[in-house]
Amino acid sequence: MAALAAPTTGTTKEKLATYLVIDTGPIVSSAASPSYYLSSADRIFTTPAVIAEIKDEASRSRWETIWKPFVEVRSPKPNSLKVVAEFAKKTGDYRVLSATDMGLIALGYELELEVAGGDWRLREAPGKECKGPKPEGWGWEGKIVGEAPKKEEEKKKDEEPKEEEKSSAAVEEVAEQLEATTLETTPVESPSTEEAATAYEDHQQPEGMVETTDEPTEEVAESNEDSEDDDSDGWITPSNLHRHMHPTPKASTAAVVEKLTVAIATVDFAMQNTLLQMNLHLLSPTSLIRIKNVRSTVLRCHACFFVIKHPTATSHFCPRCGSGDTLRRVGCSTDANGVFKLHLKKNFQHNVRGNVFAIPKPVAGTCSMKGVPDAPVLREDQKEYTRAVKWESYRKEKDLMDQDYLPNILSGTRRRGSAIRVGAGRGKNPNQVGRKRK
Ligand SMILES: [Zn+2]
Repeated sequence: MAALAAPTTGTTKEKLATYLVIDTGPIVSSAASPSYYLSSADRIFTTPAVIAEIKDEASRSRWETIWKPFVEVRSPKPNSLKVVAEFAKKTGDYRVLSATDMGLIALGYELELEVAGGDWRLREAPGKECKGPKPEGWGWEGKIVGEAPKKEEEKKKDEEPKEEEKSSAAVEEVAEQLEATTLETTPVESPSTEEAATAYEDHQQPEGMVETTDEPTEEVAESNEDSEDDDSDGWITPSNLHRHMHPTPKASTAAVVEKLTVAIATVDFAMQNTLLQMNLHLLSPTSLIRIKNVRSTVLRCHACFFVIKHPTATSHFCPRCGSGDTLRRVGCSTDANGVFKLHLKKNFQHNVRGNVFAIPKPVAGTCSMKGVPDAPVLREDQKEYTRAVKWESYRKEKDLMDQDYLPNILSGTRRRGSAIRVGAGRGKNPNQVGRKRK
């Protein structure tokens, strides 16, 4: 298998990741091909559970013919599974992660240990700092990147102190200039320089640093190096044509700043959330672009502020306080630092209408009973609720291909929409200000 990776490593283009772990998606999809993935990673991995998931004939044959020679199938060790399971329990994703998902994360974790030489890059628990400093004498970039860029690195190592001084001097200059011109931007400047310094230490790539810093510093750094290019910025002239023709170091490294140790390509949100919080790298399976921020929505109880991270079709009640009708959909995101954030609206006011009068009584004599149902569902353990959930699950099981299936208009079924209604129901609020008749 290593021999397969050999011809691809010879290319001059820097690959995004050393190892890539893929999900079922790419194999099942007819659009994806192994060569596309091998253009971004040296080796591709997956777990036996993923292969077992491929059931249909077409996908099976695609796996056998196209994918099998290029993908290494490996099952994770029980110990890595245990570590991942422990972590997923802490992030709250354990319940929704399937055994296959868990296996993929565990494989990613295991490969990370091999490539990075330990778990120093990973987090022990969500929101914590990474475990430790890079072990001494273990620069995985130098080991993995290959022969051709090594020379450049050696050169960079020689130039490193000078450039560092130069860049820090440039940054200081910018800070001074900014202090002189605007006072507002100066506090932003100091952390960015720190970041740049750390990024510089990590990658040993000055271009990477430019990428992380703010635009003003970049401009000044350029002007310090070559003042001629200042005026010709943005224009293609005979003097800078070669730079536009060939990918310049700046342009290429802006896209690929650091070579990732191990990347996992998945679209599953629970997996993405766990991966980012563990600090494992995440790629989009379609575009193979690194995902640094995952967005989704959660349900949040506005009575007790409990957050349901993985809402299901039947999450109608708060698991902590038991309130019905207090769950609100809230946007959330997980960033590359593993920080889970809720995006709450500023000055959001909850609708408190309907809290004054009692729930209205049902109006007899109509099919829909106008008003509210006989026994409105207010708590999760009511028999009306359990019955409604059962009915809902039956409704979903209806198969459209079933020959005995009749559409509602023929069968006479009058129930429409969701059968589960918590509280008085929408539009049944007795305190609501109705539309006035003219
Ligand atoms: Zn609650």
